[in-house]
Amino acid sequence: GMTSRDAPPPVGDPDGDCFVVDKDETRRKEKAAKEKELAKKVMVSSAALVRASNGLPKTGDNYELMRSFGAFSELVEQQEKRVVNLISRVLSSAGSRVRLPRVDRGADFEHFYDRVVEANDGIVERAGIVLDELERSRRGVQVKVPRAVIDAESTRRSLASDMGGVRSTTIAGLGARLSIGGGDTVAGNGDLQTAKQRDQARIARVSATTVKPQKAFGFGASIDNSSSKFLPIMKQKHHAMERRRVEGLVVRDEEGAERVNSSSVFASDEAVEAHPYSYELDHDECPEEQLKSEEPQKYGVMDSTPLTVVDTLEGLKKLVETLNKEMEFAVDLEAHSHRSFAGIVCLMQISTRGEDFIVDPFPLWSHMHLLNQPFSDPNILKVFHGADYDVVWLQRDFNIFVRNVFDTYRAMKREGTWTKFSLAALVEKYCEGKQLQKEYQLADWRVRPLPAEYVAYARGDTHYLLYCKDMLRERLLETGNDQANLLRAVYTDGVELSRKLYEKAEFDVDGYRSLIGTRKNFNNRQLYALAELWRWRDATAREEDESTAYVLPNHMMIHIAEALPREMQGILACCSPVPLLVKQHLLQLHRIIYAARDRPLEKTVTLSSRATGTQGADRGLFEAMIDEANRMTKIKSVLRSSLDFTHCAFNEEIGSMLGMKEEDKIGVDEKPVTDTFLSVIGVFRVEEEKKEEK
Ligand code: AMP
Ligand code: MN
Ligand code: ZN
Repeated sequence: GMTSRDAPPPVGDPDGDCFVVDKDETRRKEKAAKEKELAKKVMVSSAALVRASNGLPKTGDNYELMRSFGAFSELVEQQEKRVVNLISRVLSSAGSRVRLPRVDRGADFEHFYDRVVEANDGIVERAGIVLDELERSRRGVQVKVPRAVIDAESTRRSLASDMGGVRSTTIAGLGARLSIGGGDTVAGNGDLQTAKQRDQARIARVSATTVKPQKAFGFGASIDNSSSKFLPIMKQKHHAMERRRVEGLVVRDEEGAERVNSSSVFASDEAVEAHPYSYELDHDECPEEQLKSEEPQKYGVMDSTPLTVVDTLEGLKKLVETLNKEMEFAVDLEAHSHRSFAGIVCLMQISTRGEDFIVDPFPLWSHMHLLNQPFSDPNILKVFHGADYDVVWLQRDFNIFVRNVFDTYRAMKREGTWTKFSLAALVEKYCEGKQLQKEYQLADWRVRPLPAEYVAYARGDTHYLLYCKDMLRERLLETGNDQANLLRAVYTDGVELSRKLYEKAEFDVDGYRSLIGTRKNFNNRQLYALAELWRWRDATAREEDESTAYVLPNHMMIHIAEALPREMQGILACCSPVPLLVKQHLLQLHRIIYAARDRPLEKTVTLSSRATGTQGADRGLFEAMIDEANRMTKIKSVLRSSLDFTHCAFNEEIGSMLGMKEEDKIGVDEKPVTDTFLSVIGVFRVEEEKKEEK
C-alpha cells in the first residue's frame, strides 16, 4: 500500500535552480538513515505485493474463467486503474516526465511496460549523475547539481536512431544524453561537468556519428550475412597434429593426412567435419605442469605494468612472437552488436604475467588470423572468464581457433563455494577487494581513438586473470580428490569450449509468432503484415549489416502490423524515433501494409456448421450470443480460453468438457432444458432471453 503519504517527499527546493548538498554531517546521516528506512519499507511492501499477486488467478489457468464474473472483472479493472495511477504518481514524484499510455484507451501491456522501462531508465540516469556529484561532495566541495539534470527527461528516445537500441544505462551513454539531450544547459556550465563527463560526451558524439568500421576499414566486404553454413577459412593451420595411428581407432588417409574414424567422442560427425581442430581436440593432453600445485604468482600494479596498444601489422607480428614464447596468457574480447548483423569484435585484451596488450582489430582485420598460432598452440594455456562467446567470436571474425583453455567462470562453478560468478566477484575476492568497473561493458567499443578510460577498463578484464587462475587452481586441488579431480574437470570444460563452432543465424520464417504471445488477438491481415515485416527486417538487416533491432525494433514492428496504417505517414507515426532504414524503405513497407489490408478478412469467431445448422430454432439465439460475445470485451476472454466451444459443436451432455470433477456434474435430467453452458457460468441468461423472445 503505497499512497502519496508514504511516498518519499521530493528532494530539494522545487523553486530553486539547484540542489544544495548538505554538508552538515549529523543532519546528513539522519536523513540518510530515514531514507534507508523508507527504502526498506518499500522493499518489504514490494515483496509482499509480489507474493500477493502470485496468488491471483493467472492467464491460461483460472483468469479467463474468473474474468467472466462481473464482480471479479470490475475489481480487476478498478485495481488496474489504481495501479496505473500509483505508477504515474511514483514516477512523477521521482521527477520523470514520461507520460504513461492510457490503459483504458486500449494501450496494450507491452506499450505500457516500455514506457515504464523508459521512465525507469531516466530515473536511473539521473541517480547516476547525482551520485557522481555526491562523490565530489565527499571531497569537501559544496556541490550544485543543475536543475536541468535533476529534471531532465529521459532522452533515450530523442537520441539519434543510431543509439536507439541501447537499452541499458551506461556512463558512456550518459555523456551522450547530457550533450545531445541536455544540450546547451549542461555544456554551458563547464565547471559542473566533470572532465570525465566531458570526455564521455565527446566520445559518445563521435560514436553516434562515426562511419561504421566495417566501411571505414573495409572489412565489411569479408562479412557474409547469408544464412549459408559457416565455413572456417584457415589461411594456415598452425599446430596441426601429426595424424598418427591411435589405439582402437581406424585412421584413414585423406590427401596425405589421416583422419579419425567415427568412433570418436563427437556426438555428430558434422561437427567433426566442420571444426578444423576436431582431430587435435580429440587427442590433446593437458600439459602436466598445468595440473601441479604451485605458489600463485601475484599480478603487478597496473600503473607500473607496461601496456602496448597493437594496431599495426608490425605490432601484431611482434605480439604473436611474444605470445608464442609464453606458457600462458589471459584473453578477453569486447564486441559490438547494434550496428552489425552478426556482431563484430572491437577489441582484444591480452595479459601475460608482466605485460598488458590491447589489440585494435579494425586496421588488422584480415591479419588477425596470425594470432591463431599462439591461440591454437596446445602447450600455451589461454585463460578466459566466460569464454562461450569469445571462442566463437574469434572464429567468426578472424578464423582463430583456441586450444588449451582455462575458463575461470567454469572454475568458479566447479569450485562450489561461490555465490556470484562474475569477473568482478572473482577479482574482488582474490585481489584485495579490487573493484572492477562494470559500466563500460555495454559501451560502444567501436569508438576510435580509444579513450583512456576505455583502455583502463578493458585492461582490467585480463590484468588480474592469470593470478585469479592460480588461486582457483590451488582451491580446486584442495577441494578435489582423485575421484573428483576438479582441476582436470575445468580443463575438460576448456576442451568443450574449444569444440564450439560458430553457427550463423538462419532466418526463422515463423519467428514472429513468438512476438505476439497470447496478449494480442491478431486477425489474418495483421498476421500477414507482421510475417512480411519480419521477413523484410531480416533481409534488410543482412543486406545492410545492421542488427534487426537497429532496422526496426520489435515493439515498432508489432505496432505497425497492428495498426495497418493506410498512409505512409501512419507507418512513421508508429515509430518514435523513426529508424533510418524505415525512412529509406518506406515505400516498400507501405506496399507490405497495402497488401495486408487487401486481404479478405477472415472471421475469427465463427460457429461450426453443426451448432448453427442443426439446432434449428436455436439458431437465431446462437447468433445473438455471438454478437453479444463480439460486443462485450470481457467475454472475449472466455471465448479465447480453454473453455472456448465456438470451434466445436458444443454438446451440453458432455459435462467433462468443463473439466468438472465427477461429483460436481449435474445430471442431464436435473438441468433445465434451456440451460446452456454459458448460462451455467453466469455469462448469458439464456432463459431470460428466451422468455423475451416469446
Ligand atoms: P565481457 O566478456 O564482459 O568483456 O563482455 C564482452 C562483450 O560482450 C561486451 O563488449 C559486450 O559487447 C557484450 N556483453 C557483455 N555483457 C553483456 C550484457 N549484459 N548484455 C549485452 N551484451 C553484453
Ligand atoms: Mn569476455
Ligand atoms: Zn571484457
